Amino acid sequence: MPPRLHVINLPRVPAGEGAPAGYSLAPCANCAAPCCATLRARLTTVEAQRIASALSVPLDDVVTRVPGAGHHHPWFTVPIPLADGPVTLALRQRDGSRCAFLHEVGARGRCAIHALRPGVCRIYPYPVREGTLRTDVGSAELCPIGWAVDDAAERAVRRDMAAWRADIAREEQHVARWARQVPRRRTWERWTAWVSGA
Ligand code: SF4
Ligand code: SF4
Repeated sequence: MPPRLHVINLPRVPAGEGAPAGYSLAPCANCAAPCCATLRARLTTVEAQRIASALSVPLDDVVTRVPGAGHHHPWFTVPIPLADGPVTLALRQRDGSRCAFLHEVGARGRCAIHALRPGVCRIYPYPVREGTLRTDVGSAELCPIGWAVDDAAERAVRRDMAAWRADIAREEQHVARWARQVPRRRTWERWTAWVSGA
């Protein structure tokens, strides 16, 4: 059995108690979401297809391709081998850095695809540990208030991490099959058509 996931390095709030001064269990509630306006969210084709399908839009309206291995994260991006080199995927942005799905609602930033957002958005910015494996998907330095954690939040992180891992594993299976079954003319257009039927 894999080691149990724990959220680490955040103040721990006992059940029924409030977060200490300067911290919150839900810092996003009143936030303008500078994270979504600054950072580039990485995702798999599996996650992107889910968004594209729900919105009835082409995959290319959801993601942009990041060429080369320089921006590859060792476990949460999966390089897609195309004829002109590997690509990984990121959510589309507008105005240079804002996630295309970030909406301003009054002074707050809200995710327009909250229920469909990719795994990296679900886990950010929780630092987690599973046995000796530590995972940080991004620092909380953009957050205007400190994060705290309670048992309910940790359970949600476990659930979200398991779902994210399943998506990544599915993407890895797709890429392995694609590499075996499509030896030539590995274009992006062929990949999107092939993977939609996989
Ligand atoms: S910057 Fe931090 S608090 Fe604000 S929306 Fe992003 S994760 Fe939440
Ligand atoms: S998908 Fe949603 S949570 Fe993720 S970066 Fe975009 S607006 Fe933020």
